[in-house]
Amino acid sequence: MAFLSVKDLYVNYGAIKAIQGISLEVEQGEIVTLIGSNGAGKTSTMNTIAGLVKAASGSILFKGEEIANKKPKEIVSLGLSLSPEGRQVFPQMSVKENLELGAYTRSKEDKEEGLANAYRLFPKLEERKSQAAGTLSGGEQQMLAVARALMSKPDLLMLDEPSLGLAPLIIRDIFNLIRQVNQETGTTVLLVEQNAKMALEISHRGYVLETGTIALTDTAANLLKSDKVREAYLGG
Ligand code: ATP
Repeated sequence: MAFLSVKDLYVNYGAIKAIQGISLEVEQGEIVTLIGSNGAGKTSTMNTIAGLVKAASGSILFKGEEIANKKPKEIVSLGLSLSPEGRQVFPQMSVKENLELGAYTRSKEDKEEGLANAYRLFPKLEERKSQAAGTLSGGEQQMLAVARALMSKPDLLMLDEPSLGLAPLIIRDIFNLIRQVNQETGTTVLLVEQNAKMALEISHRGYVLETGTIALTDTAANLLKSDKVREAYLGG
């Protein structure tokens, strides 16, 4: 049984049918990327898994448990956390306070362990722990968003567009960090990315979404080689 198994998922926003029967699986320890054009349904898929958007029908099994339409908080405490699109750090709060918010489901000792772990993976954040998060650079804010999602010590970390709005050199850093988190902590990662090439380069497998359905799935290496994928999503 897969670690995460989404079966025949449908999501509507009123009359808009955003997701029309998506099935996908993520195995423990994998990095899996969802790619696709604007509006294909990548964010909707992630948000529905995280419980932020309601599923119209379908099943979402996480570690064998049905989580479709459970409350976000409950899903986080089962070990699944989402770093949402557009960073969304709390600008007036310090770096440390932002990190602590990520551990709201955990005990005081766990919070401290989480902070130590975040500072080990992201030394920049420790240097800046008292600084207001809104004054961090874009790349630093993105690191903070990833580190905050890790504070709940998730078994499965979902990242929505971690490279959004960042300079190419910083994007490379972010992807290296994601790979490092996966390798050092064994955290399973589900990634949504416009920057398909770099995302696939650190991934084991990928799914291509087109208008609310899965058009193609394969190993990341094969997707990177595929003419169709190169033309449509990797800039030729
Ligand atoms: P992008 O790469 O542009 O972020 P995406 O693949 O993540 O796109 P979604 O954001 O999941 O796509 O959107 C899928 C479809 O659902 C789009 O047609 C979008 O306009 C629509 N949609 C998303 N959120 C809402 C909402 N809150 N209300 C109405 N329609 C929505």
